[in-house]
Amino acid sequence: MTQNLKPEINKKRVALHTLGCRLNFSETGSIAKGFQERGYEIVDFGEPADVSFINTCTVTDGADSTCRNLIRKAHRASPEGKVVVAGCYAQMDSERISKMTGVDLVLGTSEKYKVFDYLEEDQDQVVHIDKSVTFYGAATSEAEGHTRAFLKIQDGCNYVCSFCIIPQARGRSRALPIKEAIENAKKLLSEGFKEIVLTGVNIGEYEANTGERLSDLVYQLLDLKELKRLRLGSVEPNTLSDELLDTFASSPKFLEHFHIPLQSGDDTILKEMRRKYTVDQYRSLIEKVVSRFPDAGIGADVICGFPGETEEQFKNTYNLLKELPITHFHVFPYSSRKNTTAARMENHIQHGVKKDRVRTLKMFGEAKLRMFAEDQVGSSTEVLFERRNEFGMWEGYTRNYVRVAVASDADLKNHIHHVYLRDFNTSDFKDDLLIGEILN
Ligand code: SF4
Repeated sequence: MTQNLKPEINKKRVALHTLGCRLNFSETGSIAKGFQERGYEIVDFGEPADVSFINTCTVTDGADSTCRNLIRKAHRASPEGKVVVAGCYAQMDSERISKMTGVDLVLGTSEKYKVFDYLEEDQDQVVHIDKSVTFYGAATSEAEGHTRAFLKIQDGCNYVCSFCIIPQARGRSRALPIKEAIENAKKLLSEGFKEIVLTGVNIGEYEANTGERLSDLVYQLLDLKELKRLRLGSVEPNTLSDELLDTFASSPKFLEHFHIPLQSGDDTILKEMRRKYTVDQYRSLIEKVVSRFPDAGIGADVICGFPGETEEQFKNTYNLLKELPITHFHVFPYSSRKNTTAARMENHIQHGVKKDRVRTLKMFGEAKLRMFAEDQVGSSTEVLFERRNEFGMWEGYTRNYVRVAVASDADLKNHIHHVYLRDFNTSDFKDDLLIGEILN
């Protein structure tokens, strides 16, 4: 076979990998763009590269160990390439990471944006951690191939949830002023994105930082002509005000999909976790959301096996999730994080018990999501198509965040269509997939 593809001489290659939350993904998007602007070609992680960049997470010890495996993988793929480890885990455990074979740079949560400068410098110093955190705006770029753009509007957190290490890793809450957020959004829209997802660590605290209100920002975003869909990232239950719900309900561009962390359905555990709501308050909020948005998809984070969690307290969580119209479960085993209040608590739960509780809730969550999807068969909805799947069908998400596949020869990427939801769970597909037909 003739090989007529001449390698581009001197074009450097960068491989990026992101762990953790949407916020991290949006930040990697910006950093990827920075590499492209400097002439780098983006390759898949694990391929030979001049630079392997890992944007880490430290929410659980599982995330930490995945990061260490990725470092080994990157070094194996490119023994001569540079391995940069950045973000939350880098901020919290820089010493250990810097001693790993192959690691060239360890950059904390603020320093990761200066990766280009550090790569150009003589690197006698491997670790760069800045404890005084600064806000760096971030937004997904095309480099990641997504059709939904993640727009970062807030970072850090002033809460003191007893299990959480994020405030230590990302610092105190700060937000991007509305003017800049709108400019960033316009830039994304000019790149062709139709859907924006607002991200941050605790976006409901947006208004506390700037004096400007989150509802004002949402209102102005919804007013942008090129924006077709607006989705909200995770929002703490105590911050989801009536005013915000009114703003969302004011426009069909707002997608009826919420992510409202629960963590536990037991008041004693919620108190020990130092969450800012009770079970009753959470219940009322969900009822209010559903009364405003009857078709809403609602996601909730849940932690199983918090120190001291009894079987009965776990059952309280299970029963609450059964009672409420929560459709997307995000279930995690409690993971002890150094220097948190919960790590110092007594009665840590055995690994096997946590695992069982996680499995129970995950299976239940899958069943609820299936029922939610099945209930939509026979209706129609708008879908933004993202990619062709392994069966050659186009896949995208409904407004309330259920995956849909349609058969089409056309290129549907980044197109919004009205879709009739015909079927569900045909044997060839994964079970949370609706099968649809394009109506227009
Ligand atoms: S709200 Fe609580 S769980 Fe969420 S980042 Fe802040 S401290 Fe962590």
